[in-house]
Amino acid sequence: MASSFKNCMLCCSSKVTEDMAEESYEEAIAGLTKLLSEKANLQEAAAVRIRQITAELAGSTAESDGFDAVDRIKTGFTHFKKSKFETNPDLFGQLAKGQSPKFLVFACSDSRVCPSHILNFQPGEAFVVRNIASMVPPFDTTKYSGTGAAIEYAILHLKVENIVVIGHSCCGGIKGLMSIPTDGTLSSEFIENWVKICTPAKAKVQLGFTDLSFEDKCTNCEKEAVNVSLGNLLTYPFVREAVINKQLFIRGAHYNFVSGDFELWNLDFNISPSLVV
Ligand SMILES: [Zn+2]
Repeated sequence: MASSFKNCMLCCSSKVTEDMAEESYEEAIAGLTKLLSEKANLQEAAAVRIRQITAELAGSTAESDGFDAVDRIKTGFTHFKKSKFETNPDLFGQLAKGQSPKFLVFACSDSRVCPSHILNFQPGEAFVVRNIASMVPPFDTTKYSGTGAAIEYAILHLKVENIVVIGHSCCGGIKGLMSIPTDGTLSSEFIENWVKICTPAKAKVQLGFTDLSFEDKCTNCEKEAVNVSLGNLLTYPFVREAVINKQLFIRGAHYNFVSGDFELWNLDFNISPSLVV
């Protein structure tokens, strides 16, 4: 076990416990007392409750299916530290001084499409923005500033040489965009307003692919949405200038996690052969 991590976890755990303990502890004990007094014969129920309370107070979040989130995080970090951090002192020594990634990558938040996994990016290689449906909004200093800040930092400060926007199969965000009713009625607080960034992609698919099933329309929209994002990237003056000066190359991609294919295309929409391994 990495001692620094362990110490940090202990410190975090105790802080969370301190912050949360007073009220939750008293409530939990009151509930337990009530349970015990009313149902004296329900010893097993009481024992279960005691285990839950003990776990909560210990900062552990053991859930009913046995999944322990804290343990999973500790195990994951320990694996990373032993197999990567401690075996690559030169790399991590360099990264301690700074970063100069070659890529700015836009990927969906979907848990199945992590670019560091599917493209084997190592620490320091890719500056990554992940959001619903891997969309790039158009330049606007009053909206979407999180995305704008990431692009500005990557281009002007890190001077990345490549941007890749990666769509993917079975994208829930694209399905959400395609499902917005024609009267524009929204049924979410944030999601639909976000994915509407790529409404031009939806419009193109609905006009050009009328015969396709909803699923196939979604697949086409996944790729057209990437193209809308590529166009939106060019609305950022510093991106446009770097592209014109050939200091920056912009590409679109689509990862199909059902078939295991990865398509890559450039701004001229020259599609490379699918990468099938
Ligand atoms: Zn997605």
